[in-house]
Amino acid sequence: MCSLIALQIREMGKNDKRALPEDVLVKISIFKDNWPMLRNNLRIRERKEKVLHEISDDILREARKIKEEAVEKLEENIEKLRRALESRGAELKIAKDGLEASRMVLKLCKEHNVKLVVKSKSLTTEEIELNRLLESEGVEVIETDLGERIVQLAGQRPSHILGPAFHMTRNEVAEVFSRYYGRTVPPDPHQIVLEVRREFREKYQKAGMAVTGANFIIAENGATVLVTNEGNDRLALAFAPIHVVIAGVEKIVSSTTDVLKILKILPRNATGQRLSSYVSFHIPMMNTYPRDDAAAPRKTIYILIDNGRLQARQDKEIKEILYCIRCASCLQVCPPYNIVGGHVFGYIYSGPMGIAWTMIAHGLDKTVFAQLCNTCGLCREACPLDIDLPYLNSIVKERYGKKYGYPSINKSLKKYESLITLASRAPSLSSKLLNSSFVRKSIEKFIGIDSRRPLPRLAEKNLGEIFTEIGSAEKGSIALFTEALIYYVYPDWAIKAAKILSALGYRVIIPSLKSSGMPLIQYGFLDEAREIAQYNVENLYDLIDKGYKVVSLEPTAQECLTNYYPKLLHGEKSRKVAENSYGYFEFLKMIGWREVTRVLKNLEGLYVTYHLPCHSKTRDGSIVVKEFLEALGAKVYFKRIGCCGLAGTWGMKKDGHGYDISVEIGRYLVGEYEKLGGEFIVTECSACLFQFQHLSTLPSRHPLQMIQLISSE
Ligand code: SF4
Ligand code: SF4
Repeated sequence: MCSLIALQIREMGKNDKRALPEDVLVKISIFKDNWPMLRNNLRIRERKEKVLHEISDDILREARKIKEEAVEKLEENIEKLRRALESRGAELKIAKDGLEASRMVLKLCKEHNVKLVVKSKSLTTEEIELNRLLESEGVEVIETDLGERIVQLAGQRPSHILGPAFHMTRNEVAEVFSRYYGRTVPPDPHQIVLEVRREFREKYQKAGMAVTGANFIIAENGATVLVTNEGNDRLALAFAPIHVVIAGVEKIVSSTTDVLKILKILPRNATGQRLSSYVSFHIPMMNTYPRDDAAAPRKTIYILIDNGRLQARQDKEIKEILYCIRCASCLQVCPPYNIVGGHVFGYIYSGPMGIAWTMIAHGLDKTVFAQLCNTCGLCREACPLDIDLPYLNSIVKERYGKKYGYPSINKSLKKYESLITLASRAPSLSSKLLNSSFVRKSIEKFIGIDSRRPLPRLAEKNLGEIFTEIGSAEKGSIALFTEALIYYVYPDWAIKAAKILSALGYRVIIPSLKSSGMPLIQYGFLDEAREIAQYNVENLYDLIDKGYKVVSLEPTAQECLTNYYPKLLHGEKSRKVAENSYGYFEFLKMIGWREVTRVLKNLEGLYVTYHLPCHSKTRDGSIVVKEFLEALGAKVYFKRIGCCGLAGTWGMKKDGHGYDISVEIGRYLVGEYEKLGGEFIVTECSACLFQFQHLSTLPSRHPLQMIQLISSE
């Protein structure tokens, strides 16, 4: 495909009438095997690994507290800022929405006869689509951030909040500039920068106004803080007689000290730098460099935008998104976003943070791309401000579903447990039917499970039919929580898990519970998810009261018990269940590897590649299955890449709803794993195993399939 055509196709989503799955498929076909977003973001993640450990949890907690307080004290800070600005001769305006803010800028341009505006570092002006209004009134606008300039000339929106042109190759960038300058510009970044710099120098000198955004605005002294790697804000402000700052009201923080604390986090998380190349504190009404005759104080106007933020501040469910410092950590790790990019996984704001921000700033009807979030949870782990993005996303999906209707495919798949229970009534017949392409096509059509996705073979007897309890409670009692897949497909894993615990001195029961309900959370059916959570919590609470510990075999079940149920239910009982719930291997670690290895056969001579499932977390942050296998003597290869792409039922959804992105995510991951040297891929999540069985030439195993009790000899 001619790359110019490709460029035009890439600008999709916002004004396009195509359905989301079609956008997804087109984008996948363009990015296939190249994965520009993914590769760019992985490069940054590699750099970050060297510096992120320098930030303590205390610093992160303090940063969150600063933002919480700033949002809490917003009215007070606005007034403080107003006083600080007025004392310096600058002005503060508050715009209720994007149009009002853009009109304010246009009015200023008209009043001061401004024909050329240079812009720097302003995602908020993208939010309000300032350029469109100014250009329609004959004002030339030059984006001076190189990435922004590229997408401006290509007629696109940024696809990433920090790397606007991350989705483009250097050839495409050269093509954009060749077209713009009317001569060939080679695909050489250095050459491109020289060309752009030459043009910009002239524009900086001629511009009648500089518009910048703000990473922070300091209430106590009115300074605008800008963090960049190009320093273009300084050049934009050098000569311009008018400076307009456009930022959301949530960017105000109380003091310079607060900013300095957050600055320890921002560059490290954004680009893996300890400090960005330029951190500028712009004081209002500073003198410009002399242009014609003499230097004069630069007229400074702050336009702070509400555009839904003040309402979001009152909304307990989503308020925490206002703490976002736009570091882009969440975008760097989001698996579907990295496959399709921000033009599909986004509106103007993109990636994980873009879902709630789009609802706030542009309206719920623009959040249809939230369906691409598979609730892997990696963004929450990556966010330095500890914003629970996956849960916020589920809330957005719930609100969207209740107002505009849930996607029918999600309505079918939320019933996965009923479907699997029904099929398990006649397992052999079900498995036979699932081998028929006619049946699979019908399932694809009526339920939405992609016929290319292999389905698991049901066990002849489910777990409840063959196992209830084992062992004596010498060391304690355990309620083993499984998910539907283990219950109906791999009951022997649960039995082996129980036997190991029994050999270690525990009594193990399989309580009568429902599956965790993750698909309901994932697709935003939160009322139904709450019912399931309530049922499971009530039952487990009673057991905990009798002295049981809860041990989950599936990481997703554990994630629901410890993270989602307390959020859904808010009660003392769910909190207590969370406190007393452990992942299976986490629990073995608590018993002690020495004890555990005493009852299990050695795995020396075994070379495995370990995949860490997204929902696998431990209280001490350790990669516990890797430790377990190593304690048994296996050689374990490990590379932290991220999600395998299946995400339960999400990776089964037909076409661009899930399957195709899921396969792209998995293909990259498997390709990397196959280079590591293991003979098997090992992981403790049964859904991840399906993905590896589908995509990898290496055999894949659950750790419980790899181990044997010594006593079973
Ligand atoms: S939960 Fe996973 S898929 Fe969803 S937005 Fe976060 S990183 Fe992306
Ligand atoms: S949500 Fe968190 S990780 Fe994402 S941009 Fe905001 S602060 Fe950074």
